[in-house]
Amino acid sequence: MNIILLGAPGAGKGSQATKLKEYYAIPHISTGDAFRSNIARGTEIGVYAKSFIDKGQLVPDDLTVKIVEERLSHDDCKNGFLLDGFPRSIPQAEALEKIAKIDYVINFVIDTEKVVKRLGGRRTCACGETYHVSTHPSNICDKCGKELYIRQDDNEETIRNRMAVYEKTTAPLVGFYKERGLVVDVDANGTIEETFQKIIELVK
Ligand code: ADP
Ligand code: ZN
Repeated sequence: MNIILLGAPGAGKGSQATKLKEYYAIPHISTGDAFRSNIARGTEIGVYAKSFIDKGQLVPDDLTVKIVEERLSHDDCKNGFLLDGFPRSIPQAEALEKIAKIDYVINFVIDTEKVVKRLGGRRTCACGETYHVSTHPSNICDKCGKELYIRQDDNEETIRNRMAVYEKTTAPLVGFYKERGLVVDVDANGTIEETFQKIIELVK
């Protein structure tokens, strides 16, 4: 099953991906995680990507598409994959059509104010796990024991910027995929578990 998770920053795509990859036994491919890993390792791609990410802008399409195309060529994607944070623009979606056939686009529907609140209190682990300070005040990851950090782009100004980029550049993908009959709308205002149950009901 080839699945795209589509939705505003903070809609909970990453949290659902963590559960869905186990449920469907398919790899979770997050372009955001790929860029952050490159930044942490200080690669050329990382240095370049950081200049866009820190401003809340998108990394240019050609580089992003190249990274995804390479990742999708790995053997573990043969039985399906979960794309999280890609595609994020019409040109990326058009490029993806030439690389892979998509079965479902899960569209996370959520209120804007909820998103700002979620991202403002988000704590991230290098292992990919995320928490919210309100429900997880400890600074240590439950999964791997590493110390949590606040993503540099999770500050209010950058969050607003990311939301604006989402509305302008990414939201049109909902129409793009609706035309192709691939979209499943999911209410993402509830808890992680509630949203997960909704998704697995709809995606079979
Ligand atoms: P979120 O969904 O919370 O914004 P991500 O981890 O998906 O977080 O992305 C963080 C940043 O990485 C984005 O704001 C953007 O700068 C960059 N990025 C991630 N995916 C893409 C993409 N498909 N195209 C361009 N830039 C991307
Ligand atoms: Zn961890």
